[in-house]
Amino acid sequence: MHVVVAVRGRAMHEIICRPIRERGDTVHVFTDGLSALNHIRSDPTVDVLLTSLELSTMSGLELCWETKIVSNRESSIYIIVMSSSSDVAKLVEALDSGADDFLKTPFVPEELCARLRSAERVRSAQRELMLRATTDPLTGVCNRRSFFERATAMLDEDKTGDRHSVIMLDIDHFKSVNDTFGHDIGDAVLRDVSAAIGSTSMIFGRLGGEEFAAFIPDQPAAMAHKTAEMMRTTIAGLAIPAGDATIAITCSFGVSERRDGEDIDSLLKKADQALYQAKTGGRNRTVIYNAQDCSPQNGEFVARTSN
Ligand code: GH3
Ligand code: MG
Ligand code: MG
Repeated sequence: MHVVVAVRGRAMHEIICRPIRERGDTVHVFTDGLSALNHIRSDPTVDVLLTSLELSTMSGLELCWETKIVSNRESSIYIIVMSSSSDVAKLVEALDSGADDFLKTPFVPEELCARLRSAERVRSAQRELMLRATTDPLTGVCNRRSFFERATAMLDEDKTGDRHSVIMLDIDHFKSVNDTFGHDIGDAVLRDVSAAIGSTSMIFGRLGGEEFAAFIPDQPAAMAHKTAEMMRTTIAGLAIPAGDATIAITCSFGVSERRDGEDIDSLLKKADQALYQAKTGGRNRTVIYNAQDCSPQNGEFVARTSN
């Protein structure tokens, strides 16, 4: 685990850090609360904060509060508060400030290690839950909810910039893949398509069924169109095993670019309208959203009920 230790007296550092290092954990030590908090803010891999109640620049309780605020975004950093005080009111206050455990000083190394093992169990359970809550179980990419949350978080951080695009894609004639080769092969197609095009430079998710979306930061529509075309040719080139044979599939793509600080729902709606144009235009193609082509007054678009 990655452990942050915030303790004022340097003499305590060795006593606390040695058993932690002997467990194989990495430790970052700070003598004041603010430096510890800045580290926690900048390092998303921190698992545990071990803090004394008595700190300089900010109190141990304030550090607990602030750490919980930082860590609530993704998963909660496990906080162990240390104090020499036997005052129950202090213990209660620490727990109410977000501490998960309390360690009375002086302590023996075995007790510290046992509390860290407890923290490790909680962190591991949290990670598993987080994975299940955010991942599509079939393909391993973001599920619908986490796609929306991650894209929204990215847009919230960047209120002014509009140079972001969304690509929506939908497998062509997927129903006939299921009908011809069976549902298991259909599932394999979904997995292969996801694996072929998901990448770290985008937020990629399965919105449902055989429909996927990619949020591409810092790419205007023309660039996102190129990205979509690369995805399209990659997918069209896949040879997906189906018993003794292999099958080839294609996808249709819709691209939209962010305008006037719009949110992810609006971007997806536009990409979906462009995708519809790609479908009605013959499939296996990419269309960039164009307000005129995709006008809601257009009877064809209004009549659309799926995909
Ligand atoms: P189009 O080219 O217009 O997109 O036609 P399509 O056949 O791809 O679209 P349609 O919406 O008619 O069919 C989508 C199919 O996707 C129907 C549904 O059974 C199937 N499907 C949805 N989720 C899954 C899944 O998790 N696994 C499998 N194997 N099939 C799925
Ligand atoms: Mg389809
Ligand atoms: Mg569909």
